[in-house]
Amino acid sequence: MSGAGSVLIAGASEVVTGDATLGRGDLGLIPDGAVVVEGDRIAWVGPASEAPEADRRVDVGGRTVIPGFVDSHSHLVFAGDRAREFTARMAGERYDGGGIGVSVAATRAASDDELRALVAGRIAEIRAGGTTTVEIKSGYGLSVADEERSLRIAREFTEETTFLGAHVVPQALLEERDAYLDLVTGPMLAACAPHARWIDVFCEPHSAHAFTEAESRRVLEAGRAAGLGLRVHGNQLGPGPGVRLAVELEAASVDHCTYLTDDDIDALAGAADTTVATLLPGVEFSTRSPYPDARRLLDAGVSLALASDCNPGTCYTSSMAFVIALAVREMGLTVAEALLAATAGSAMSLRRNDIGIISTGRRADLTVVDAPSHEHLAYRPGMALARVLDLIERAPSG
Ligand SMILES: [Zn+2]
Repeated sequence: MSGAGSVLIAGASEVVTGDATLGRGDLGLIPDGAVVVEGDRIAWVGPASEAPEADRRVDVGGRTVIPGFVDSHSHLVFAGDRAREFTARMAGERYDGGGIGVSVAATRAASDDELRALVAGRIAEIRAGGTTTVEIKSGYGLSVADEERSLRIAREFTEETTFLGAHVVPQALLEERDAYLDLVTGPMLAACAPHARWIDVFCEPHSAHAFTEAESRRVLEAGRAAGLGLRVHGNQLGPGPGVRLAVELEAASVDHCTYLTDDDIDALAGAADTTVATLLPGVEFSTRSPYPDARRLLDAGVSLALASDCNPGTCYTSSMAFVIALAVREMGLTVAEALLAATAGSAMSLRRNDIGIISTGRRADLTVVDAPSHEHLAYRPGMALARVLDLIERAPSG
């Protein structure tokens, strides 16, 4: 294997840079574009007719090149599945978060190696779907040892790890909420912080298993004091304090945003440089819930991201192409807006300026869409069109 020298990526029908200064429209689209990569960085991007010489040439055969998807919200560290719960919900039962206990029991029962193999399999699926950066949360351990090992294993796969001990109050402690919060903000946080970049909380007064505004504030403030960045699960099951709290505490992201008041939208628009609204329409799809009004958020000036929320309970898919198709079909975004939210927008929600856009100096995280234009991502839902462009030269096998 050798990544030495520069690589010219040629033969693209279009390159979507995500930087409006580099090409047409907000997408910064370059028809017949080309990209030059050196090492793990982008060295040049522009029209193929102006491309500089490179040591090696990779022809993508008329396909579309886009920034690798950034999936800024996932729960990949779990064992078991909840297909039965999904089937029951589709038959009309209401979801309130209690099913997380099923995944907690299965996750605790798995060995480190079993858990690592499960995460590795999901990471392979994610790359096969065109995603180059994924955030992974804990939250199916809910004990000091199980949360710590969930994050330790997640860290083997990504820098974007999030401590979510405050996912739900474990069933056994539902009558002792304060004791569980003492644990989450005390010994559990101390054990997990070395393996985490972020802290998150399921702020949802509509669920008896999740956390109130005061409890969520306590979790987030403890995380911040431990040096972690802030993320919030908010306004998923009904209107609530999540968005307000996230904006007040300058969280990088507030995720779900399914039920928003006018005040919530104003607050998010005013915080557009700080707090991103991350929409997770795969959850609405998989729980048969109303979709958030992404069109209204974007028109109000809110910074938007799209992510999968891949998890065993409410959305067991990591396909960002599917998420884009939903955002276009169900939430009123154009394909361009949805693609930007799934790349540059989600990079912003992780406060990363090295990914999400194809421009000189950024990471060479490139995805190829097996189609002549990016529109096919939404136009051909369910098709396996996007995959990560692997530029590492492999030794011939056999
Ligand atoms: Zn989530």
